Amino acid sequence: MKRSIRLPRRQPQTEIDNRPVLRFAPTAWAKLLYFRDRGESEIGGFGITLADDLLRIEEFCTVRHQTSIATIVFDDLAVADFFEAQVDRGRAPAQFARIWLHTHPGTSPLPSGTDEETFERVFGRCDWAVMFIIARGGRCYARLRFNTGPGGQLEIPVAVDYRLAFGPSAQEAWEAEYLANVDFDARLQIGLLQGPFLEDELWGEQAFSDDWPSDQRAFLSEEREARDER
Ligand SMILES: [Zn+2]
Repeated sequence: MKRSIRLPRRQPQTEIDNRPVLRFAPTAWAKLLYFRDRGESEIGGFGITLADDLLRIEEFCTVRHQTSIATIVFDDLAVADFFEAQVDRGRAPAQFARIWLHTHPGTSPLPSGTDEETFERVFGRCDWAVMFIIARGGRCYARLRFNTGPGGQLEIPVAVDYRLAFGPSAQEAWEAEYLANVDFDARLQIGLLQGPFLEDELWGEQAFSDDWPSDQRAFLSEEREARDER
């Protein structure tokens, strides 16, 4: 009788304790940590996911923002450019505009009042969204929120996922992106500069949907349109 060796079946890591898991490709994780430890401020950006696995983050992308120890103010035009570029690459909003990643320079990953307000205001109209925070020292916080149906939210586990192919470090490119996109301004901290995290106008009245690309002019500010027409 022919005997065959049975390999253990690899357990899909999409759930732990019946909860979905937010998973990072190793390179995306390394870049996030590089940004976290590069300066003394919070750093924020978006997680880019696979089309068929919306909780597996392939890339951490920053856009230009002003930042302080506990504040992030994104440049709306930069966010609009980022969204456009993602659509040009054939990605759906669910892959690039649902997962908000940011770092805390302190040791606590718990969301601040400002973080909660931002999550509610900016992502409250999306059908679902994730707020993820990583602090110095490595503690993480991730919360998945559903706005459809009866709604609801739950904290979810976080993992670095080595099962799929991943790329090498790109430290020089990360450093260039850090210098281009992170504008540390201590005045933010003491309230001398006022600014919303993101203009509501940019996000429009409606939630993103998969037909968003055709509607994207609605998300562009007048300033942006004027610039494009030049
Ligand atoms: Zn925060």
